[in-house]
Amino acid sequence: MKMSLNIQILLGALFGVLVGLYLQQTGLETATASAGLYGARLIGTLFIDLLKMILIPLVFCSIVVGIANLRQHQQMHKVWVTTLIFFMLTMAIAMIVGMTASNYFKPGTGLAVSIFEGAMQNFQSKQMPLPDFFAHFLHHLFVNPFQALAEGKVLSVVIFALFLGIALVVGGERYQNILVLLEEALAVTMRIVNWIMYLAPYGIAALLIKLVATQDVAMLGTMAQFVAVVAGTLLFHGTVMLPLILFLLTGKSPLWFWQGARQALITAFATSSSSATLPITMRCATEQLGVKPEIAGFVIPLGATMNMDGTALYEAAAALFIANLVGVDLSFSQQLIVFLTSMLASVGAPGIPSAGMVTMVLVLQAVGLPAEAIAILLPVDRMLDTLRTTVNVEGDMTASLVVQKIVS
Ligand code: ASP
Repeated sequence: MKMSLNIQILLGALFGVLVGLYLQQTGLETATASAGLYGARLIGTLFIDLLKMILIPLVFCSIVVGIANLRQHQQMHKVWVTTLIFFMLTMAIAMIVGMTASNYFKPGTGLAVSIFEGAMQNFQSKQMPLPDFFAHFLHHLFVNPFQALAEGKVLSVVIFALFLGIALVVGGERYQNILVLLEEALAVTMRIVNWIMYLAPYGIAALLIKLVATQDVAMLGTMAQFVAVVAGTLLFHGTVMLPLILFLLTGKSPLWFWQGARQALITAFATSSSSATLPITMRCATEQLGVKPEIAGFVIPLGATMNMDGTALYEAAAALFIANLVGVDLSFSQQLIVFLTSMLASVGAPGIPSAGMVTMVLVLQAVGLPAEAIAILLPVDRMLDTLRTTVNVEGDMTASLVVQKIVS
């Protein structure tokens, strides 16, 4: 009997974690272990390369076609507004969950900042004043489309595709051929995504072997309280809040959602990249969760770059952790600044591994915390990135279902 792809992916993930733990225990010095790790790196990177290869054509075609088809249904305005409101609301809820738990458990208060001094001294933080960050973000919206396509700038591609989609609609019959061409291109791109999916079980196993085998377990122990608060609240948001929101707004059960979404969720966990996962997220949304391509084609690529519940939660919780560590008591209004800047920083973070940690500088600077302190997060960031990326991708699929329900 042939195993379904879902089962293969689950087994691949399990295998990856177990082999990674084994290598972690036995050490990476032996010839077999280093050969194994080399193989895992190679296969994992190839899998991500394949996803990134198809990402830009997919985003481009799906947004243009999505927008063009939405306008035909006179729904575009409603979809836009609902999508953006839903993104902001769920990010806000995630941050409230993370900040409440951080205020309650106060991770970092018992730790001596001196153990991190070496790391902080060696770390060159980039200054990121709020106005500069904002200007930088805006300048990345409108980019020569050929440059954006060639350099894989997802957000800039999304914006150009939006313009093109709207232009095609406004032009109507006149540009029908271009629309048909892009519809065909989208279909053929999805066919390639389906091929790449056959490699997903191996790619995921390889990525997880590498991730688990190279984890700094001692550091995870030192920062256990912070890791527990972030992981616990991410899990709470992902398994309670988002499913509850989905159920209340669409009547869909969490189990049904998980069954349809699991390929994308596991890939997000293994790759720690919403962008690399995007082709699979699109596939799950349209083929398994029944989201219409014109809704998914708009909500999911936009969500992969803007809607990051997990990242927003992490940035807010990490800022409070660092404040505790350096002994700064943040007032209510300062926490409000953390809340607002974390939202901005997560919207501005690209969907790639550890992006959230980099844009966190913005949050720290806004409340006068030392930017070098993000060096403290380095050893645990990669591990926590798995969970927050999974929550980010879950948020995107939830958004596509909710928007579909609200506009239909
Ligand atoms: N890795 C995350 C993502 O791709 C972003 C982050 O670093 O939080 O969604």
